[in-house]
Amino acid sequence: MSMTMHDVVLRGGRVIDPETSRDHVADIAISGGRITDIGHALGPAGHELEVANHVVTAGFIDLHSHAADIPGMRLRALDGVTTALELEAGVSPVEPAYRQAAAEGRPVNYGFAASWALARMEAVGGVEPDGRLGTFLANIASPAWQGSASLSQVNAILARLSADVADGAIGIGILVGYAPASDPEEYLQVAALAAEAGVPTFTHARDLIELTPNALIDGASEIVRAAGETGAQMHYCHINSTSLRHIDRVQDLVSQARAAGARVSTEAYPYGSGMTGIGAAFLAPERLHERDLTPADLTYAPTGEQVATEERLRELRAGDPGGLAIIRQLNEDDPADLSVMLRSLTFPDAIVASDAMPLTWAGPVPDPLTWPLPDTAFTHPRAAGTFSRALRMLGKEGGPLGLTETLRRSSLLPARLLEPSVPAMRRKGRLQVGCDADIVVFDPATITDQATYARPTRPPVGIKHVIVNGTLVVRDAGIVPAALPGQSIRATPR
Ligand SMILES: [Zn+2]
Repeated sequence: MSMTMHDVVLRGGRVIDPETSRDHVADIAISGGRITDIGHALGPAGHELEVANHVVTAGFIDLHSHAADIPGMRLRALDGVTTALELEAGVSPVEPAYRQAAAEGRPVNYGFAASWALARMEAVGGVEPDGRLGTFLANIASPAWQGSASLSQVNAILARLSADVADGAIGIGILVGYAPASDPEEYLQVAALAAEAGVPTFTHARDLIELTPNALIDGASEIVRAAGETGAQMHYCHINSTSLRHIDRVQDLVSQARAAGARVSTEAYPYGSGMTGIGAAFLAPERLHERDLTPADLTYAPTGEQVATEERLRELRAGDPGGLAIIRQLNEDDPADLSVMLRSLTFPDAIVASDAMPLTWAGPVPDPLTWPLPDTAFTHPRAAGTFSRALRMLGKEGGPLGLTETLRRSSLLPARLLEPSVPAMRRKGRLQVGCDADIVVFDPATITDQATYARPTRPPVGIKHVIVNGTLVVRDAGIVPAALPGQSIRATPR
């Protein structure tokens, strides 16, 4: 029996390490923000928590979270997330975003990719850069940034991205699907820059050729081509929502590219509907048919209005292009559509990632520390339920993936994707002595999401404790209001 005084001991839980698949009942000791011991009869400790009949495992690492403020990150924490990264949109310049997060504090670890879209808005669209996602959303519909760029403009985009990567940006987010007229050659240059710096890229794909026959290049082919030609690590964001019913063709392409040695990773979220700014290029009334959508498949989040007509959609796009809208794409109640969604999640090594959107407020924006959330908060339920839902749908006994594999896709795989360029990730995504004490404790028998499209901020059931850098952020399924232990995560480029 050890008599060392630990900060925290989690006693008698079912400890699962996603890397070794070790699965056994043990105590976990935490001191100084790290896991210091795993064994039996550990103690004493400042905080001792009895966690019998609960799984104790590495906290979830969300590669795709636009909910980067304190209330948004608290929703992620209640879903078991200990690191929430904004990698698909990214922000440029990244330094102000890191500075603001550090000054305000964050409940979970945070980090940002550089943003090709914001760099492009600056170089091609004349938008003043400020390192905020809101600036992207406000300008999402402006044709000024979506077209082709001159040689000097491309050089300015690449210079901005290089500067961000030098400042520690976690790779480059490329929202190419929002700028369908941008030159595929430019995309290759961005990928080459990332390959040179040894950092990954994160793409919201251009439209698929099946959906948009006049696309400059098929969105899936563009990603795998860049991986093959430049050697960059290309991460295919929310492959579910951009592939829709063409998921098998797209995933076959990814498999072939991997077999040929290209580095292409994928992620998916377990929901049939998407959410983005209503002014997005692919939501133009004349293009909705490409995705088998009608205006009534869109709900304008700020008011909950179901969009009735093309004319009303035009009005909303003109008046509030960055206003978020729910897009009913796959019907989860239709077995064929549900199967499409599940194929994106069960594809080999597919990562679970939320695409959590920022909170939209009906009425005044409250102080960021206000908790519980006022019921004027609206978002997509994926912001509150992605990982608990994945565990319910995929990770149950006899489920499509099972528990350990679902956990591996929620913590270890995202850590491994980033760790070649992000040293902090080598101590995350595992439950081992010496790793960061980023830990989730949940009941595998009862875990489930509760957030719905009507009530999108309801927290899950079954997630009992969440620990970030050794500090309890969620205790007995409730937010610990004063806990803001999140640390900044940065890359170290070559
Ligand atoms: Zn996206």
